[in-house]
Amino acid sequence: MSSLKVHNSYSRQKEVFTPVVPGHVGMYVCGPTVSGESHLGHARPFITFDVVYRYLLFLGYKVRYVRNITDAGHFEEEGREAEDKISKKAVIEKLEPMEMVQKYTNLFHWAMRKFNNLDPNIEPTATGHIIEQIEMIRKLISLGYAYEVNGSVYFDIKKYAEKYPYGKLSGRKLDDLLETTRHLENQEEKRNWQDFALWKAAPEEHIMRWASPWGEGFPGWHIECSAMSTKYLGKEFDIHGGGMDLLFPHHESEIAQSTICNNHMPARYWLHNNMITINGKKMGKSYNNVIRLTELFTGDHPLLEQAYSPMTIRFFILQTHYRSTLDFSNEALKAAEKGLNRLWEAYKELMKLNPDPNKEISPELEDHFSTYCRQFDEFMNDDFNTAKVLANMFSLVNSINSFKSGALEKFSLSAETLSYAKNQFKNYLENILGLKEETEADQQMLTGVMELLIEIRKEARKKKDYATSDKIRNELQQIGILLKDEKDGRVSFSFE
Ligand code: ZN
Repeated sequence: MSSLKVHNSYSRQKEVFTPVVPGHVGMYVCGPTVSGESHLGHARPFITFDVVYRYLLFLGYKVRYVRNITDAGHFEEEGREAEDKISKKAVIEKLEPMEMVQKYTNLFHWAMRKFNNLDPNIEPTATGHIIEQIEMIRKLISLGYAYEVNGSVYFDIKKYAEKYPYGKLSGRKLDDLLETTRHLENQEEKRNWQDFALWKAAPEEHIMRWASPWGEGFPGWHIECSAMSTKYLGKEFDIHGGGMDLLFPHHESEIAQSTICNNHMPARYWLHNNMITINGKKMGKSYNNVIRLTELFTGDHPLLEQAYSPMTIRFFILQTHYRSTLDFSNEALKAAEKGLNRLWEAYKELMKLNPDPNKEISPELEDHFSTYCRQFDEFMNDDFNTAKVLANMFSLVNSINSFKSGALEKFSLSAETLSYAKNQFKNYLENILGLKEETEADQQMLTGVMELLIEIRKEARKKKDYATSDKIRNELQQIGILLKDEKDGRVSFSFE
């Protein structure tokens, strides 16, 4: 079997995967910022790296998969003003910050389970690792790569760039950065505009704050990933993953911090998934096209013509290679829904097939099945090409369907080929691609029951029977279903 090759964003090349410790893989993937509900854009990295994780397990590696929860931190994004998303949103939602963090963490976990993503082995939080972050910042100061001003600490990019290739991962040049970085407010205290915050002094009104050698404050966003990946995976680990939007400044900053503190580049292989566009447009609040996962599953969004099941979305994402862009549209999702059903029906047919000694064995068919099934391994070894695996499966679907009735009725596969094909399909569809049968009947029944309850509640309210209408709402909430009265008089429901 060919060996696994992965595309390393750092070298911009496909490289043979050679782990630091033979037989073991350490993988770090940047997790969600739990200041809001996850949306479609979040589905792609977590499904992509779930498949990477599953494939590494399938190859027999002992994997430690670490995916953090960002529940505190100072965000500096390009062209945008720096802010602490968690504190800001907690004020808007009138919740204790950790209450809000818990709410969105629970919702994130719920969505991950719906997608059939395996749990990471360690899911560390930024707030649970303040001490480690402070220690790392102290070290950066003592080595001369960070400086303190007015209770905040910044990383000295210019000094770093004298010795190290800053910008190599993202392909940015320091001189360009100097010219293009906008003048942002409250940045006068930095030595250079492009220096990023490791620690920020907390203004009086700031809710989330910790004591530090530089006074009360809170950590920067980048330092959490450096601190937690070092703690759980060591100074050098194998894979660091995330979406392409994290290349700069997040991953570039992680490399700088870890390289200075650990005297080593943190990860051997940097893997990045491409972005999802919606009807050809970038997803963003300004385009009014951010679709939350709960809205996708219920169909309750102006851009959605219907609800799409978690497996339809998973399949849709895996039909494209993770480094290609992926455009979301109702047409594409509906096609994915049909395609997945067709594939799953054929898979069930295949599992029921038995070799028949009274039928003919065709060398062409034998070759078609054994070659196409063997290629699953080659495609996955070629930078996790799930798109090609699925294309091969579809090429076999027609033949599978024709064994029972149709052109191939008089043929049978040999026992050996059939057992190989069954094995490959099961391993790939269920264990590696992580697809599973969704009980559509259950979903339809639930929707039916919900519509009935909403109708009864509406009638009760008309009759001013608020005891009944409140009872329906409250009892549903008890089991995690939230009713929402929309402005247009419609009632929608979502899962807590
Ligand atoms: Zn990160």
